[in-house]
Amino acid sequence: MTLNEVNNMADALGSSQRMPLLFVGHGNPMNAIEDNEFASGWREAGKKLPRPKAILCISAHWETRGTFVTAMEKPETIHDFHGFPPELFAVRYPAPGNPALAQQTKEMVKQAIVELDSNWGLDHGCWSVVRRMYPDADVPVLQLSLDRYQTPGWHYNLAKDLAPLRRKGVLIIGSGNMVHNLRMINWQNPDSAYDWAQEMNARFKEYILNDNHKDLINYPSLGKAAALSVPTPEHFLPMLYVLGLKENNESITIFIDKTVMGSISMTSFKIA
Ligand code: ZN
Repeated sequence: MTLNEVNNMADALGSSQRMPLLFVGHGNPMNAIEDNEFASGWREAGKKLPRPKAILCISAHWETRGTFVTAMEKPETIHDFHGFPPELFAVRYPAPGNPALAQQTKEMVKQAIVELDSNWGLDHGCWSVVRRMYPDADVPVLQLSLDRYQTPGWHYNLAKDLAPLRRKGVLIIGSGNMVHNLRMINWQNPDSAYDWAQEMNARFKEYILNDNHKDLINYPSLGKAAALSVPTPEHFLPMLYVLGLKENNESITIFIDKTVMGSISMTSFKIA
C-alpha cells in the first residue's frame, strides 16, 4: 500500500490525527539565516510535530482587501523587505503549493468569500520560519491572507471555519509578533526590552494560558502599554487565528519567550 493510499484511507475513516497549531514570533528577517536561539527554537519545535501533509501559514505580511488563499503549484519566494544583505535575498524556499487543498480551504470557509490567488507566493513571515522546520522544502505550503478591513473578532471567528484542515493533516501556523512596534525598535541594543513591551508580553501570555480570548480580541481597550505594543493589527492577528482554532481539551506550550530590540516579542507557542 502506498503512502497516498494510507492517507486516503485515513481521510475516508475520518481517523486522521488532529494536527497541532503554532503561533510563531518571526521578528527580524535575519532570523531566517542567522544561527540564533530563534532559529534553533523553531527547528526543535518542528522536530516535535507529527509530519504534516501540508502547511497553511497566516502571515502578518500578506494583507489584502478580501481574503485569499495561495493556489499555485509552485509559490515564489517573496523577499518583502529592504536594506538587508544579499544572502537574505538569495534564499529560495521551493516548497510546492497544493491547488486542490486551496480549493478545499476556499469551500470550507463560510464567513468570507475566499478567493484563489495566483500572484502572491511565500513571504518572509512564512518562509523564514518554515525553512527551519522543514529545510528540505518537501511539505506543500499555502498562505491565507489577512483582510485588512475586518475587526480582530472577525478574524478570530473566521479561523474556526478552518478547523477541518487540522484533521486532514494540515499544520496551521500563525506568524507575526504579539508585541511589534517598528517605530520604537532599538537596533543598537538587540537584547533590550521596553517596560511596556515586557508588561504586555507577560499579560498576553497570561491571557493565552488562561484561554482569555476575549481580552486578546479586545486588545485596543487594554490601555497605553497595549497601544504601544500593538500599534497596527497585522502582526497580532495571526495569533488570533491560532487561538480561534484551539479546542477545549488542548493545552498550550510556550517554546520561545523573549522580548528583543526594545519593542518586539518573539514569544511563540504550540497548541496540541
Ligand atoms: Zn514581520
